[in-house]
Formats: sequence, C-alpha cells, structure tokens
Amino acid sequence: MDIKRTRIVDLLKRTDFGQQVLVKGWVRTRRGSKAVSFIALNDGSTIKNVQIVADLDKFGEELMKQITTGACLSVTGTMVESIGSGQAVEIQASEIEVLGTCGDDYPMQKKGQSFEYMRQHAHMRLRTNTFGAVMRIRHNMAFAIHQYFHNHGFYYFHTPLITASDCEGAGQMFQVTTLDLQRVAKSGKVDYDQDFFGKPASLTVSGQLEGELGATALGAIYTFGPTFRAENSNTPRHLAEFWMIEPEIAFMDLVELMDLEEDFLKFCINWALEHCQDDLEFLNNMVDKGLIERLKSVANTEFVRLPYSKGIEILQDAIAKGRKFEFPCNWGDDLASEHERYLVEEYFKKPVIMTNYPKAIKAFYMKIDAEKPMCMGKQQEETVQGTDVLFPQIGEIIGGSVREENYDKLMSEIESRGIPMKDMWWYLDTRRFGSCPHAGFGLGFERLMLFVTGMQNIRDVIAFPRTPRTAEF
Ligand code: ATP
Ligand code: MN
Repeated sequence: MDIKRTRIVDLLKRTDFGQQVLVKGWVRTRRGSKAVSFIALNDGSTIKNVQIVADLDKFGEELMKQITTGACLSVTGTMVESIGSGQAVEIQASEIEVLGTCGDDYPMQKKGQSFEYMRQHAHMRLRTNTFGAVMRIRHNMAFAIHQYFHNHGFYYFHTPLITASDCEGAGQMFQVTTLDLQRVAKSGKVDYDQDFFGKPASLTVSGQLEGELGATALGAIYTFGPTFRAENSNTPRHLAEFWMIEPEIAFMDLVELMDLEEDFLKFCINWALEHCQDDLEFLNNMVDKGLIERLKSVANTEFVRLPYSKGIEILQDAIAKGRKFEFPCNWGDDLASEHERYLVEEYFKKPVIMTNYPKAIKAFYMKIDAEKPMCMGKQQEETVQGTDVLFPQIGEIIGGSVREENYDKLMSEIESRGIPMKDMWWYLDTRRFGSCPHAGFGLGFERLMLFVTGMQNIRDVIAFPRTPRTAEF
C-alpha cells in the first residue's frame, strides 16, 4: 500500500499511534549506539524535528554510513509515542531510502557558526534552524499584511519597477539600460535615443507616486513589492534591494494616518505572536532573550505621538543635563538614529510617531502645516505633515505623510527645489483633475522583520541580501 507523505508539522500533532507513516526531510543530527540510531529529521514545515529510530540490524552498514548531517531521507515507519525525543511522537523506521547523500564539506554541518559565516554561505543557511524560523515568519508577515489591507478595503495595486521619473531618488537609483557600456565609453557620449526606453530609466525607489494615482481612483490601495536604492550605506538596516509596503488612501488626514500606522503595525505583531509561536520561542531562546516580551509590550502599548519640535526640546534638555550624542540636533537637523533611539528606548520606552518635521528635510510632496511651530521659545520655519514611526532597536520603521493636494503649492515646492518635473506631468494631473486630500506611508518589510525576529542585521531577514559588492547568490 502506498502511503502519502506527512509533513512533520502535521505529524507532530497526531496521536493515532501505531499508524504507518511516510516522512521526507533532511538529517539534522544522528546519534546512537551499536544497536540503534536516533536520527533528527527536519522537513522545513516546522522548527521541530521528528526523531527516527533505526535498529541497525534492520539496515545495512552501507546505508547507515550515508545517513549524515544534511543528507536527504525518505522514511517509512510506525508512529509511536516518544519518551526521550522532546516530542510526543517518533517513528520506528521500517524502510529508509537515502534520496541525497551529503558530503562532509557541507557548510552547515557545524552548529553555532557566526552570522557572518552564514552570510558567506547564504545559499545553504536556509537549512538551519534560525533561518528556517526567519523565513517562516517572513511568509507569515507577508500574509498578515495582505490580510490586514484586504480586511480594511484596500486594493493590492502593482506599481512598476522600472521608472523614468527620478524626482525622489536622484543619485541613489540603479540605472536600467540596454546600451553597451563599453561602446558608450569608446564613443565618449551617451545617446539615450538609442536606449530601450528612448530616455534614461531606473529601478524604482518607491511606488508612492504611482500609488497616488491608484488611491485617487480606487479610494485605498497598497503596494507590496521590491524597491531598489543604490545608497552606499553599509549599515545593518539598509539593503540595496528591499521590499516595501506602501498604502495610499484618499480622504485621509494626519490623525487618521497615524491611527492606521499604529493599528497596522500592532496587527502584524499580534499575528506573529499568534501564528509563529514555535519559531518565536526558538528565536527568543537563541537570538534575543527579550524578543517575545518586547513584541507583547509594543502590541499592547499606545504609541507616543510627538511633534518634531517637541522632540528637539526633549533632546536639547537631555544634552543640557549631560547626555552625549555624536551628532548635533538643533531645530532643522535631520535626526540621527542615536537621537531616535534615545527618544524611543530611553525617554519614552515605547514606539514614537514623530510628526510635523521641518519642510526642508522632507520630501517635496508633503503637506505644509498651517502654522509655524514654536521650539526652544523661538518661532521656527515651516513644517510638514510627515510621520516617521520610530521603533525600539530599529529606529525608523515607517515613513509617511499627508500629501500636498493643492496644485499651486505643490508646483511652488517643485520649482523652489529645482526638481526635474518634465517627466512628471502625469503625477501633477492628480492635482488638476479632481484633486483630493490623501495620505500614505512606506514600511520597509525587512525593518518589520528585524523587529519581529529580533535579528540584528537586515542581511539576515531576507533570503538573498543585496548590498554594496554582494550579489553572489
Ligand atoms: P532611512 O532614513 O532609514 O534611510 P528613509 O527615510 O530613506 O530611511 P523612506 O524613503 O522614508 O526611507 O522609505 C520608507 C521606509 O522604507 C523606511 O521607513 C524604511 O522602513 C524602509 N527603507 C528605506 N530605505 C531602506 C533600505 N535601504 N533598506 C531597507 N529598508 C529601507
Ligand atoms: Mn523616511
């Protein structure tokens, strides 16, 4: 009788002992005596292994020699109650087939390798407990995001990855071309007329501008796709290729935007707590002892809503009392991550949504506040309705804003900043034909993953990280 393969995650929930079962997976460890071997088998469906008990007199030495860490097996046997394996179930093997042997140069053979070592063997690290856990959580987070927006009436909207507008990301975009660079170099000039699109084109740094077209037609949309930034910042929080979630909503104001940001992040975190228990427990034990507690605390706390000017006052107050920072933070400065982390981790001890930033440090499309703020007893320059959500351990996890919907105000920003808008007429049309108040934000998926997994480096929450000088696997 042919039996169907059981996934280990399903098998470990069963109690109908005595049944014949078939499992397939990779050997994590093997130990035992002369008479019997205990094989820990994992098939990726769960962090947990199932123990296979193999009586050596039943299986020849030839076969047993091939059962080494990393080898792939198909095992048929009887499901029995287990006493010693750490699980309720184990398998008394009646048949073992080696589907793939594994050489002793298998890079994941040794336990406890450094993350740096893992990155150098990123093609194989997915088979480890840690990366298995991270990847299963990543799937669950993606699912949660779709679930949240679908539940709230947002439409999943696909914006292009190749774009010919560079209004936002000038300087940090990857150019897309079919021109032969050797020939261009020889001829000494670039003729974009000969290029694929007939003009310069790049990989997108954000789907927002196209997202605004979607929102002003469908009411509420979200994007969820790859984003590219050629910024040469070799930090543990930046990738050259990352995934971004960008909801955009018609008729939404600043308070509603902050409500959405907070509710959405809490939903995702609660989803992880509910659906990724085993993997979170593993990461909590092995990677970050405070992880689960931190997730629960953020899910259950009200985020602080803090105008930038108030934030500067708090920071200046701390400096006056002797707190040292590497970078200055006077009104008008872009806050460094040390400032953000001070506010979140030391001062408030909870997530902070910072708002009403100086116009000069934010993007051209943000809506200008009606009044200029006071800070340190002085009236300051114009501010905009931008919102950065700042998280413990991470710093900025979300950047969002209310968008300027007034055509003339938007144009005057574009002109005074000297933004090349000749290819942007289509964006400006949203402000000419039935313009409406609207708002949206961008969440870096890997920043969320860092928070939810407790991993320290953004290269370790995506399967195949792209950073300066690395694109090997
Ligand atoms: P940062 O100041 O952290 O570099 P940013 O202000 O340039 O970020 P935005 O343009 O506001 O980022 O992008 C929206 C979100 O995308 C950020 O809040 C962050 O979560 C994420 N993000 C931005 N750049 C990167 C990157 N290089 N790698 C991974 N995530 C990123
Ligand atoms: Mn930002």
